[in-house]
Amino acid sequence: MAITRDDVLKVLSTVTVDAAGTTLPASGRLSQVVVDPTGRVMFSILIDPSEAERFEPIRRRAEGAVLATAGVSGVFASLTSERGPNHPAQGAAPQPPAPGRPAAPPPPRTGPALPGVRHIVAVASGKGGVGKSTTACNLALALSAQGLKVGLLDADIYGPSVPKLFGLSGKPKVIEERLLAPMEGYGIKVMSIGFLIEAETAMIWRGPMVQSAITQMLREVAWGDLDILVVDMPPGTGDAQLTMAQATPLSGAVIVSTPQDLALIDARRGVTMFRKVSVPILGVIENMATFVCPNCGHASHIFGHGGARDEAARLEVPFLGEIPLNMTIRESSDAGRPVVAVDPDGPQARVYRDIAAKLWANLSGAPVARAAPRIVFES
Ligand code: ADP
Repeated sequence: MAITRDDVLKVLSTVTVDAAGTTLPASGRLSQVVVDPTGRVMFSILIDPSEAERFEPIRRRAEGAVLATAGVSGVFASLTSERGPNHPAQGAAPQPPAPGRPAAPPPPRTGPALPGVRHIVAVASGKGGVGKSTTACNLALALSAQGLKVGLLDADIYGPSVPKLFGLSGKPKVIEERLLAPMEGYGIKVMSIGFLIEAETAMIWRGPMVQSAITQMLREVAWGDLDILVVDMPPGTGDAQLTMAQATPLSGAVIVSTPQDLALIDARRGVTMFRKVSVPILGVIENMATFVCPNCGHASHIFGHGGARDEAARLEVPFLGEIPLNMTIRESSDAGRPVVAVDPDGPQARVYRDIAAKLWANLSGAPVARAAPRIVFES
């Protein structure tokens, strides 16, 4: 019989959190218990960071108890500390800073953001469909072609497309308890939320679940030593994106936009969002900039031209380059054979390689990955 959320809560009520015998559901620390149609269960336990050591055995007990329940095919349990356990708004999603008020400054770094990973860089866009995932994949491959050790984390909960772009399917292997092996594609380590859960499940997640899933994909995947981990962010600048930008120890962010005015307004929002959480903008990329007719070679500026470059200048952020609207880019991406991997010396790959070189140069001057700032709740 299919497992339900109530079944999970019943099992979790056998787990106590203190000497007085308070059960996990009664403690008010359970957040977002989600069961997907395939029997996978996800939940978070809210803690104050100082309680992490005490709660890790409790988390394991809770996870073990749920895993041992008939009908459960997997468990995704995490400790989250986006808010103190005594906060009155317990159970609510984390709130972004109030509009117009600056975000709280990040606290001092307390240690390496992610052991072995030099830089984590977000590829973001103000809206969907501008080619963010295609750009993230090809940039990751172009960085790898530069001789760097590269990972790609697909955190686009609204439409994880990296498995398709890399032609990868199946589930990542569990190496040991709470450690997954990343998948590999074209010499790059790849992890996608699409390998782990059904797309529909991710769509209904709220802030805390999204954040803990991303944290797990960062910390519970054997990334090994990487020069750069490219993160394909969910499009847009809503609460989920802001939460992720806050929770991920990013060295910087790249914004992908098309030259259209409307897309540029969204790109501007993206820049503002990252600035709010003190993440440096490494640059803006104009995608689908020019259409070169494959038959006659004539260049047309279908969405206008140069808008992103001008916008970058206005916002005082670097402009990384223009990627043409090109049939080969689309066809190769949709076939799971990204253009930089299959035609590394071709004209399209060269565009991505030039952008990757600039990005890496900008990054080398950026501070090493910051520790994730804690989210501050304003009453
Ligand atoms: P997003 O991640 O912003 O939603 P995608 O990367 O999924 O966008 O791209 C949307 C569509 O546009 C895909 O079919 C992709 O192949 C295509 N596309 C992206 N960039 C280009 C480009 N420079 N030239 C042609 N097609 C592109």
